Amino acid sequence: MKYYDKLIFELSKPGRIGYSSTQKCLSEKAKSNKLSEVIPSQLLRNKSVELPEVSEVDVVRHYTNLSQMNFGVDTGFYPLGSCTMKYNPKINEEIASMPVFQNIHPLQPERTIKGVSEIYNQMDKSLAAITGMKQFTFLPCAGAHGELTGLMLIRSYHMSRGDFKRTKIIVPDSAHGTNPASAAVCGLEIVEVKSNAAGLVDVNDLRPLLTDEVAGIMMTNPNTLGLFERDIKEIATLVHEAGGLLYYDGANMNPLVGKVRPGDMGFDVMHLNLHKTFSTPHGGGGPGSGPVGVSEKLVPYLSTRVSAFNGNFAVILRAYTYILMLGRQNVKMVGPLATLNANYIKESLKDKYKLPIPSVCKHEFVFDGLINDGAHDDVHGATTLDVAKRLLDFGFHAPTIYFPLLFHQALMIEPTETESKETIDEFIKVMRVIADEAAESPAILHTAPHTAPITRPDETTAARNPILAYPLILS
Ligand SMILES: *Cc1c(COP(=O)(O)O)cnc(C)c1O
Repeated sequence: MKYYDKLIFELSKPGRIGYSSTQKCLSEKAKSNKLSEVIPSQLLRNKSVELPEVSEVDVVRHYTNLSQMNFGVDTGFYPLGSCTMKYNPKINEEIASMPVFQNIHPLQPERTIKGVSEIYNQMDKSLAAITGMKQFTFLPCAGAHGELTGLMLIRSYHMSRGDFKRTKIIVPDSAHGTNPASAAVCGLEIVEVKSNAAGLVDVNDLRPLLTDEVAGIMMTNPNTLGLFERDIKEIATLVHEAGGLLYYDGANMNPLVGKVRPGDMGFDVMHLNLHKTFSTPHGGGGPGSGPVGVSEKLVPYLSTRVSAFNGNFAVILRAYTYILMLGRQNVKMVGPLATLNANYIKESLKDKYKLPIPSVCKHEFVFDGLINDGAHDDVHGATTLDVAKRLLDFGFHAPTIYFPLLFHQALMIEPTETESKETIDEFIKVMRVIADEAAESPAILHTAPHTAPITRPDETTAARNPILAYPLILS
């Protein structure tokens, strides 16, 4: 255990201080130490709070080292599929931390925050232009929250027309797990539509499902396999003819930005993840922002309130900065470059990793584990988990693994457009080295990572019985 692995409380020494403010900074009352005159006595503690007593250098080292025990997009390449871990430009942070934005309060009179309203207006216009939707609400605070909001809008639409039978929602088997989950939370019954051999929604399987009980269909396009649903126009016509609406999961809009618009494909409602496609940070459960856009006929239902005030403004502000910094011309390059990068990796590695769907992909694609060279089965060779763990030794975050569920050894890779060719080449080189290690000396993969502070936790136990309190032993 390194000394900085200790909690800051364990570094504490009575009387050690980091900084002492001069008496000059204190008010007369505080100087005379009559705190009860400043703070009502019933609010005062009766014993002093047990804060760690540490020096400034202890604090700096502690938190700097702590920050380096994790892997983030600022420390290395993070090709996590279905997640769009693009670089988050620092200008976004700078703008979001400006006092003029930091110090506003949601209960402030609206006339005092006209600038903020204008930012919402402009974001609405930009997102409408990018997606082909008519209008957006910025209340939802995550992608899944946007899905729920969108589904509630679909329900309101049918209900307001007296169409109460429509309680079923069609979800493809390749969908992101939040789709069926949000539908269930919304009280809808989920009907699964199968993918065909090419990994696309099977229109023949869809047709018989389109009854007058169907509220709509939820789709991702490109879907979770990174494939563009070519039949989307036909699907839209079929669903609309059956009286249903089309929901678009735009969490990963990245590959389409500047190229194709969900509104033009026939979608009625969609959400975007600003914390993916629009370069605001994500991970760790938020804060995020999942604005929901609707076509003209759903605008009247958009007033549904799903969160307090105006959503996560600081996230919206970051995305606004990102869009302005890119500008109209460069925004058009996001999708094509993200797509080029993904295809480049796919083609460079397909002789070492199994590629179940060989067609041109969009922003991401899926390998199904290593190509078994015949000399090794899964036990003696290496699994997808081994590859993922070994990548950390080389300074790369793993791709998404064991998702989508359609493949047993799924490795889902999404490089995004923000990586240089040099970084991508290095990743390809390392993936090839790991594939060779798996064939020649798989033991090195089974025990990886060799450099991380925590290597192979029992993930099931960690998820089911998380130990969230540290047993603190103070000397
Ligand atoms: C990330 C993601 C979501 C969920 O977004 P959250 O903000 O995590 O709730 C939904 N659908 C797809 C396709 C995603 O990639």
